[in-house]
Amino acid sequence: MSKQTLSFQAEVAQLLHLVTHSLYSNPEIFLRELVSNASDACDKLRFEGLNNAALFEDAPNLDVRVAFDKEAKTITITDNGIGMSQAEAVEHLGTIAKSGTKDFMSHLSGDQKKDAQLIGQFGVGFYSGFIVADKITVESRRAGLPAAEGVRWTSGGTGEFEVEAIERAARGTTITLHLRDDAHEYLSHWKLKSLITKYSDHISLPILMQKEEWDAEKSEYVQQAEWEAVNSANALWARSKKEISDEQYAEFYKNISYDQAAPLAWSHNRVEGATEYTQLLYIPAKAPMDLWNRDRKAGIKLYVRRVFIMDEAEALMPSYLRWVKGVVDSADLPLNVSRELLQESRDVKAIREGNTRRVLAMLEDLAKKDVAPKAEEGADGVTDVVTAEDKAAAEKEAGKYSAFYAEFGAVLKEGLGEDFANREKIAKLLRFASTTSDAVSVSLADYKARMKEGQAAIYYITADSIAAAKNSPQLEVFKKKGIEVLLMADRVDEWAVSHLHEFEGTPLQSVAKGAVDLGSLQDEAEKKAAEAAAETFKPVLDRLKEALKGKAQDVRVTTRLVDSAACLVVGEGDLSNQLARMLKAAGQ
Ligand code: ADP
Ligand code: MG
Repeated sequence: MSKQTLSFQAEVAQLLHLVTHSLYSNPEIFLRELVSNASDACDKLRFEGLNNAALFEDAPNLDVRVAFDKEAKTITITDNGIGMSQAEAVEHLGTIAKSGTKDFMSHLSGDQKKDAQLIGQFGVGFYSGFIVADKITVESRRAGLPAAEGVRWTSGGTGEFEVEAIERAARGTTITLHLRDDAHEYLSHWKLKSLITKYSDHISLPILMQKEEWDAEKSEYVQQAEWEAVNSANALWARSKKEISDEQYAEFYKNISYDQAAPLAWSHNRVEGATEYTQLLYIPAKAPMDLWNRDRKAGIKLYVRRVFIMDEAEALMPSYLRWVKGVVDSADLPLNVSRELLQESRDVKAIREGNTRRVLAMLEDLAKKDVAPKAEEGADGVTDVVTAEDKAAAEKEAGKYSAFYAEFGAVLKEGLGEDFANREKIAKLLRFASTTSDAVSVSLADYKARMKEGQAAIYYITADSIAAAKNSPQLEVFKKKGIEVLLMADRVDEWAVSHLHEFEGTPLQSVAKGAVDLGSLQDEAEKKAAEAAAETFKPVLDRLKEALKGKAQDVRVTTRLVDSAACLVVGEGDLSNQLARMLKAAGQ
């Protein structure tokens, strides 16, 4: 192959334009991205090598080397992982295959500042090299291919790149960043080393740098030939909890999630028993943009005894928890496990159930701590002793569940229809607005505790918005009698409550369906009055029925209204107005 000039896919060109023209809020992440690619390439070699040991050639020890050249103003990142063939280099470095990046592109606003923040949130992988470089050279040879089939890829980060065949003895990839004039601060051992420990410490391979020693004659530090590891090089999840700081957990989260915001909570456990595995699960603070895409893969990476097996292992988490990020490392699964096999494995089923339980428990815990306890005076007049430390800890946790719920509450509700075994637990985690609370903060348990004497059901109404629900004439009698009604306005509510017939023995009842039976909440006099009215108004009702024939199934006197003259209701077993409207809008 002689030298060829090719054009980037239009989206890549657009992305590069943004990367190179943005006031990048956090330029140093380029190193994290490139080191993580190098580490991924080693993971891939290890995985392919399971079935083809020859791929390791004569260099079985995998590592990543970071070097810099002050004269040439370059940084190089070298790995001896899987490498790329010429075709792979063209494809992987010239087009965007990742749906996440595509999705990111579709959310660009055209406003530089906002978009720069967005990239910061997503990380743009390989292309983030152009934040600091005005030219990138990639030299690579795929494991197993002859030395003559190496490739050199070069680009200045504008519309085009060049590829040519090269001779390359070493397996793997070398990425050379030709630094921009304003990025020379990275030409420093100390700087690069501190970025590696900051962002890539958990990478399970050694990341090596050349040693530096003080040269008294030259009166400067001089690079030595010898390489040394600058990270701790063991998988974070395999370490003991006690050795891991909150900062390290948060940094690891950023690495696996492409989310720049700190996670809301995490849980790290070694699970023993019939199925053995380690789980490290994170609850993000912000919902991803494609949360509503049910085809979105789960955010769980699967490892088997430290060997990376696959990203997005959807079999390890139910769909309604698809937004949870993390790592599962199994001690039992075979290394050559495929997605198909995963679906059938009993170990995987046990892991999925364990993960689900763990996430729900984390949420329960956050929910419990959502409102920081006030120091209350006990019955004996003695104030409970709350240390300043306890108080600060409680305040740190307070409000997290509300924040979580605002982002993920609606998707959690899918679990009511999806996860029968955990329906009760999920129901306890739900929060609603109600006729007594504008905030979406009323749990079903709160509601039950406030039920009126003689009230037999949990009443709710669904509508397009909380405001519409609140002003519905169907609420009149409930307002008059001071009965709380839950106001639901999420698109999934109607569907979700249809799966939740009761909560701890109390049925849920829509106020917009059938004849509202207030049971013993209605007094004798009211019942008598209603019956008398039905008698008096019979001729009117008959004429209305005649006039509305084919449009209304029935016309009847109601005790449901106080001020309004009439309202529409649907039959007990029928679709509600809200759901009927939704289906109609969806063309069904
Ligand atoms: P991602 O890592 O999320 O796939 P990137 O933009 O970081 O996206 O990288 C794009 C692709 O380029 C990778 O998926 C991989 O196929 C290829 N690639 C990048 N760096 C390397 C490397 N050091 N060795 C082998 N392949 C690489
Ligand atoms: Mg990457």
